[in-house]
Amino acid sequence: MFWERNIETLEKDQLQVLQSERLARTLNQAVQAPFYKKIFEEYQVDPKKIKRSSEIKNLPFTTKQDLRDNVPYGLLTIDQKEVIRLHCSSGTTGNPIVVFHTRHDIDSWSNLMARSLFAAGVRDTDVFQNICGYGLFTGGLGFQYGCETLGCLSIPAGAGNTARQIKLMQDYGTTAIHAIPSYLNRLHEFIVAKGMDARKDLKLKKMMIGAEPYTEEQRVRIQEMFGIKAYNSYGLTEMNGPGVAFECECQSGLHIWEDAYIVEIIDPKTLEPVPDGEIGELVMTTLDRHAVPILRFRTRDLTRIIPGKCDCGRTHKRIDRITGRTDDMFIVKGCNVFPMQVEAVLLQIPEVANNYMIKLETINDNSEMIIEVEVLSNWFRGDIARLDGLKKQIEHGIRNEVLVKPIIRMVEAGSLPVSEGKAVRVQDLRNLN
Ligand code: ADP
Ligand code: ZN
Repeated sequence: MFWERNIETLEKDQLQVLQSERLARTLNQAVQAPFYKKIFEEYQVDPKKIKRSSEIKNLPFTTKQDLRDNVPYGLLTIDQKEVIRLHCSSGTTGNPIVVFHTRHDIDSWSNLMARSLFAAGVRDTDVFQNICGYGLFTGGLGFQYGCETLGCLSIPAGAGNTARQIKLMQDYGTTAIHAIPSYLNRLHEFIVAKGMDARKDLKLKKMMIGAEPYTEEQRVRIQEMFGIKAYNSYGLTEMNGPGVAFECECQSGLHIWEDAYIVEIIDPKTLEPVPDGEIGELVMTTLDRHAVPILRFRTRDLTRIIPGKCDCGRTHKRIDRITGRTDDMFIVKGCNVFPMQVEAVLLQIPEVANNYMIKLETINDNSEMIIEVEVLSNWFRGDIARLDGLKKQIEHGIRNEVLVKPIIRMVEAGSLPVSEGKAVRVQDLRNLN
C-alpha cells in the first residue's frame, strides 16, 4: 500500500529523469539567492550546463557554516511576500540556521511527511499524538501538517508535561505517537509509577521515533516497554525537517525520498563518493523547494546506503540508521569515540537502565572519560559485591569497544536528568578544570 504509488515505485532511470528536470529548475532558482549567485561566480558554475542529476558532482558543497554566515536572508531566492513560514534548527552544534518556506514548500513537505507516515503504517483512522516541541523546531509542525494531510485525528500535544500526555492518550484513545526516543524512557517511568502497564492499559499501536541519534539497542528496549513497533524518522531543518527519510513497515532502513532530494554519501576527509554499503557523510540537495533551495549540503550525519531492494516495493534508496554526527565524536586519550558506541555497549546489559551521561574531565592532568550509568533499582540497592561485578562488566565492555578505560559511576535508575528536547549525552568539562 502506497501514498503515491506512481512516485514511490518509480524505476531508477525514471527517477533520474525526474531528478534531472527538478535539478535544472532548482539551479535556476538557487542563482536568485545572493549566496549562490556569489558561489556560482566564484566556482564558475553555469547552472544551464548541468543537465543530469549525476552532474551534480560539478557543484561545490554547502556547509552548515555557509548557512550560519548567511543568516537571515542570504539564501532566500524569492520575494519575502511569497514566504509564509520560517523554521530554525535546534542549534545542537552551534548557532541555529534558518529556512524559509513558500506555500508550495509547505505543501510539498506536508506531502512527504504524509507519505512517510503512510509507509510506516499510519492511516487516517489513527489518533496521532505528536509529543515534541512546536514552534521553531520542525518536529512539531512538520508532523502536524503531515498528519493533517494524511487525515489522522491529530493531537498537537507538544513536549513535556508527562501527566497530561498520558491523560490525552487515555481520554482520546491515542493509537500512534511521535516522540524523541530519550523522552520515551521518562514517559514509560511515569506510566509504571502510576501503576499502569504501557502494553495493556493504552491503545497505542505504533510509534515514530527520531530527531536524535539512538542505537538499535535503544529501539529494542522502547519497543519492549510499549509492546509495539517503533519506526525511525530522520530529518533536518536544512532539508525541511522530518519527512526526509523514514522507515517503512519492513523496518529495514529508511527510504530517503529521491523525488525531493539527491542523495550522496561521501568520505568526509577526501570528499569523494563512497560505494553503496560503506559508511560516510550524507550529502543532500533539495529538488522541490522554492524559497531556499540548498545544494550538496554536508549534513555531518554518518550513514550508509543499504544495497538491494526493499520488500515493500518502494524503489527509493534506503539509508541505515545514523551512527552519529561527525561533530559528536570526541577524542580522549588519543582515541576517537562516538557516544552511540558507548550506548550500544551499555544497553546490551539488561541490568543497565535507559539513561547515561558521558563526562570528560581532566583529573591529575589526564583526560578521563567518566560514564554515569543508571542501573536498575534492585541492583543499585542490592548486594554490593554483585554491583561491583556489574561495574567491572561495564568497564570491560566499554574498553573493548572504544579502547579507552572509562571511570564508571553507577547511579540509580531515574536519577539522571532527562531533557524535554534532544538528549545531551556528552559534557566536555576539560577546558573548565
Ligand atoms: P540541529 O542540527 O541543531 O540538531 P535539527 O533540529 O534540524 O537541528 O536536527 C537535525 C539533526 O538531528 C540531524 O542532522 C541529525 O543529526 C539528527 N537526527 C534527526 N533525526 C535523526 C534520527 N532518526 N537518527 C539520528 N539522528 C537524527
Ligand atoms: Zn520499504
